[in-house]
Amino acid sequence: MNDPREPSRANVVPMWVGGRQRPAASARTGEVTNPATGRVTRRVAFCNAADVDEAVKSAREAYPGWRDTPPLRRARILMKYRELLEAHRPELARLVTEEHGKTLADASGSVQRGIEVVEFATGIPHLIKGEHSEEVGTGVDCHSLRQPLGVCAGVTPFNFPVMVPLWMFPVAIACGNTFVLKPSEKVPSASMRMAELLKQAGLPDGVFNVVHGDKEAVDAILAHPDIKALSFVGSTPIAKYIYETCAKNGKRVQALGGAKNHAVVLPDADLEFTADALIGAAYGSAGERCMAISAVVAVGAAGDPLVAKLRQKAQALRIGPGDADGMDMGPLVTRAHRDKVAAYVDRGVAEGAKLVLDGRGLKVTEHEEGFFLGASLFDHVRPDMTIYRDEIFGPVLVVLRAKTLDEAIRLINANPYANGTAVFTRSGGAARRFEREIEVGMVGVNVPIPVPIAFFSFGGWRSSLFGDQHMHGMEGVRFYTRGKVVTTRWPGTDTAAPGFNMPTLG
Ligand code: NAD
Repeated sequence: MNDPREPSRANVVPMWVGGRQRPAASARTGEVTNPATGRVTRRVAFCNAADVDEAVKSAREAYPGWRDTPPLRRARILMKYRELLEAHRPELARLVTEEHGKTLADASGSVQRGIEVVEFATGIPHLIKGEHSEEVGTGVDCHSLRQPLGVCAGVTPFNFPVMVPLWMFPVAIACGNTFVLKPSEKVPSASMRMAELLKQAGLPDGVFNVVHGDKEAVDAILAHPDIKALSFVGSTPIAKYIYETCAKNGKRVQALGGAKNHAVVLPDADLEFTADALIGAAYGSAGERCMAISAVVAVGAAGDPLVAKLRQKAQALRIGPGDADGMDMGPLVTRAHRDKVAAYVDRGVAEGAKLVLDGRGLKVTEHEEGFFLGASLFDHVRPDMTIYRDEIFGPVLVVLRAKTLDEAIRLINANPYANGTAVFTRSGGAARRFEREIEVGMVGVNVPIPVPIAFFSFGGWRSSLFGDQHMHGMEGVRFYTRGKVVTTRWPGTDTAAPGFNMPTLG
């Protein structure tokens, strides 16, 4: 058995270029760990500009043939891919758990949500249809069509190794583009398996490629003149950098950033139901979800009984390795991230918030080296505190108190992040007001994590998304295509000759 700390070729996750695995030219590699054991399991290539160029060349060469493949044939490949993903769902979930740490059931659910985007993309012959109007002028017809862009790229975060890439490439390739994916270097293996399954489904070589690495690989993507569009999901500072650089380099871009998702709990809510919903939304996947509820705004009399219930339920969470039976929560992704989240708990205490439940110091038997952290709960958090202002991205839930729904809405609308939010109430009128007045991209009414289903589009507002189009659904189709409008006149249908004045067609 090779020592995974020694980068022998056999232990390094390679690129996927031209329909096969290919070692990177770059000698740089990074560690991939199993968060439950803390052990390095393999290494991953850190691609350089020459490696990225290889992948882009392969995608560029495959583009004309793929663009000219009828949409129905593209859809049939995706139908086969859907079957393969479904058949390999347990294997993909296992890869997610092994490199990310989340529980197998949660990983499997996220693969399922990704498969739903493939199902949406199989409708591409219908989704990509244009419009036609006859006789817009005498003897003149007009029609619109949408055409692919060319080579598109995706850069994805660590927290959904299967689902977030699947938000992007099925729609991109269904539209006739070719694709280069740069998954998170912390979780590289699932993308490689998804690439193999695409080939098995009949996707021509070069249509889908994978490069790995860090900033060096991403910067090479940003600078590459043959990449026409970039989809990014990750933290806000990087999303902003990606957006600005793409704009400067003339690329179409959608860059989804971080989040601080609030749940407002009104006094008339069913508190048992609400607390159950919030526990899953706050601590599921160890809080490493961009749609996790990380701040609760308890309105009026809801506060004390809600906090008591949250404490009792958070305390009862079963925390351990994601592949063990019956776990609610696994470890965090890396030791550094676990330590960063624990430091936020220290900070919250120092800033004077009331620590109702302390997750620091949790030990998981036989997994002492794993990156575990227990659930923490803070009450009486103020908007000026760091634990409220920052995205913690871990199992730390903060509760703020508000006197009225108005005050809660003002608080949320003033937050720089605006990915998801939810209201818990029995009042239709209050829910309707919340839905209309809240300035957030995705809203749940008694639904804590309102991730839109694949045929709607996913995206936040303000610092949670830089760009115009959200992901998948019709906004995804629009992002990965450009519109063209054709106006047609044939000799013999109209006698008017072209003139020198602005044409009015009438
Ligand atoms: P990250 O921003 O650190 O990394 C995301 C990607 O960017 C990775 O592929 C990484 O290699 C690359 N990257 C990192 N630093 C870079 C740099 N300086 N220059 C260029 N590229 C760089 O994010 P993460 O830690 O992998 O993921 C967690 C973050 O993603 C959280 O902030 C979370 O909210 C966010 N997220 C958002 C959504 C959403 O839909 N809005 C979904 C999932 C995750």
